[in-house]
Amino acid sequence: MLQIDLRELARGPAETRGQLPADDPLFEGLDVALAEPVTVAGRLQDAAEGRFYWRGSLTTRIASQCRRCLAPVTVPVVADINALFSRDPDALEDPSSYPLAPDAVQIDLRPAVREELLLAVPQWVVCRDDCRGLCPRCGKDLNAGPCGCPPVVDQRWQGLAALKGKLHD
Ligand SMILES: [Zn+2]
Ligand SMILES: [Zn+2]
Repeated sequence: MLQIDLRELARGPAETRGQLPADDPLFEGLDVALAEPVTVAGRLQDAAEGRFYWRGSLTTRIASQCRRCLAPVTVPVVADINALFSRDPDALEDPSSYPLAPDAVQIDLRPAVREELLLAVPQWVVCRDDCRGLCPRCGKDLNAGPCGCPPVVDQRWQGLAALKGKLHD
């Protein structure tokens, strides 16, 4: 249940639970490949004066690629959600606040789920911390062993060697 009837909140905080399938249209255009449904949990509370606080969490896994060796990896994504839904447009300066129409009778939590998911997706994924990556010369996966290319010369030393060459001329 990710659309909450506001009349329910008059009786006290509402438990919010739901699961959104990985191919839900909500996640379209996010450039995130979900490997699992997004599980959402939390509590929505009426904070008076047209403000509603939602504290919750989302859990899923995304399909990504190791930045060093390009191997496919799935990584868990877990995020805490602290969102404010408000009827007052002036309260919306906070990036984790969401507008609520003055005559709204329900709160749709899904836009907050989309936003928080986007923020929680790691930009730098590695298959493991000590991944050796690909050889910049031959492209071989160095996790499988050395490739036989000569060691990469540090750019600073190359500069020095060029300077030396000039001095000799
Ligand atoms: Zn890797
Ligand atoms: Zn190589």
